[in-house]
Order: sequence, then structure tokens, then C-alpha cells
Amino acid sequence: MKPRLFDIHSHLNDSAFDQDQGEVIARMKERDLWTITVGTDREMSKKAAELTLKGEGLFATIGMHPTDNTKEGFDTKYYNDLAITYPKVVAIGECGLDYFRTPHEKLQEEKKRQFDLFEKQIELAVGLDLPLMIHCRDAHQDILDILESKKKEYGDRLRGDIHFFADTIETAKRYLDIDFTMSFTGVITFAPEYHEVVKYLPLSHIMSETDAPYVAPVPYRGKRCEPLYVEEVVKKIAEIRKEPIDVVQKMMVDNAFRVFCIDSKL
Ligand SMILES: [Zn+2]
Repeated sequence: MKPRLFDIHSHLNDSAFDQDQGEVIARMKERDLWTITVGTDREMSKKAAELTLKGEGLFATIGMHPTDNTKEGFDTKYYNDLAITYPKVVAIGECGLDYFRTPHEKLQEEKKRQFDLFEKQIELAVGLDLPLMIHCRDAHQDILDILESKKKEYGDRLRGDIHFFADTIETAKRYLDIDFTMSFTGVITFAPEYHEVVKYLPLSHIMSETDAPYVAPVPYRGKRCEPLYVEEVVKKIAEIRKEPIDVVQKMMVDNAFRVFCIDSKL
């Protein structure tokens, strides 16, 4: 059985949910909504993986965010063991590149550090036959160069989603060419500059997410975001594309099942 809604990227392992994680999960169950909790370093990945044991519609990614924890390196064996121990780990990440906060004079050194982290996670994902959950900020050119070259090497074994997509149609076209999907957050409910790309993409390559506890959609702006609010993101996608809500809603779930091979994890 498939759920009604799918939030493919949330941080239920974040301390923002320490007080009421159980209640948030209960509300998701009530609304027939599944989510993927995302790892950002060793500790958060372990928490995400453990959370998958708490209910049917809970999945996880494990990996290292490019800038969340700059003290840690990427321990391939640790993450490999986690993926094998917890069968509901469905992707590697969130990994990628993020130059948003890097001062110009540090950029070369920082790129080297981030490239190394990203490369190791690509190798692990391909080795485990898992997709990538990609985080990118101010770095699409470099991410695309890396993914396009890896695609030549690995073909269909290299796959994944660009989380929190907030860029142009030109950029989106290049991701489509390597068969990557793009997921949208509550940002589209208040930032019309992304509507053109939501309209442009084939529905088969769009996914719905919240990135909770961040960026709550309208009408919850300013509040803590939770996976439940993905319903507003799905509604907005349908509205922008002028497509029936039930068609879009079903496709968001089908796409998540396809990209993350959810059927094989049930
Ligand atoms: Zn995130």
C-alpha cells in the first residue's frame, strides 16, 4: 500500500523535534504521510537510521552535509555498515557542495575539502546501489560537472535527487539530461521566481519535500515546519502547473517510490 503524501526530505532527527517527535509521527500516520529523515553527519545519520524502526512510513538517508559539520571527515566504513544494518536507509546524503558561506580567499581550499567528501559519498552510493540526496547552494556548475562525468563512468547506477531545488530552467535541463529529479520545498508557496521551473519540468521528475524544521510553507510561515505541511507544497505544485491535485499528489508518491526503491524496502 502506498501513502497519500510523501515528504522526501525532513529532519525529524533535529533537536527542534526533541519534545514532541512521537506526536509529529502520530499526526503523519493520521494523515497517511511518509517521510525520509536526512542524515548530515555521523551522529545525525545514526539518529535518522534508528528512527526508521519507529514506524512503517519512516525512511532515512545517511551521509555528510558539505558544511554542517566541518570537523568530521567521511568514514566510508561507518556509513556502509549503517546502510547494511538499517534496511530502510534509502539514499546517501544529504551530500554535495555549498559555497554560500565561504569567504572568497578560502574558496579553493574549501572546494578541495568538499569535493573529497562528495566524491567519497558518490562512490559509496554507487557501491550500495543507492541514490544520492543532493544538497547544493551556489555550486550547481561544479555539481553538474562532477555528476555528468560520473554518469559517463557509472551510467544508471548513478542516480538521485537535487533537494531544495531553487535555480533556473537551464540548470534543470542539465539535471534532466542525467535523469536526476528535483524536489521543491515550501519556498514555492511564497517565492514566485521558481514557478517557471516547476511548470517546465516533467511531473515525473518533480518531488515534494518540506526540509522540516526549516522553511514552513504558507500559511504556516514563521512556525516550525513539520512533514505534515508537505500537503501545501503539493497543492502549490498542482496550482502552478494547472493540473488536478489528485494527479499531482499521486505522482509525488509514485516518484518517491521509484527514485528511492521504496517497494523493495517494505
Ligand atoms: Zn535538509
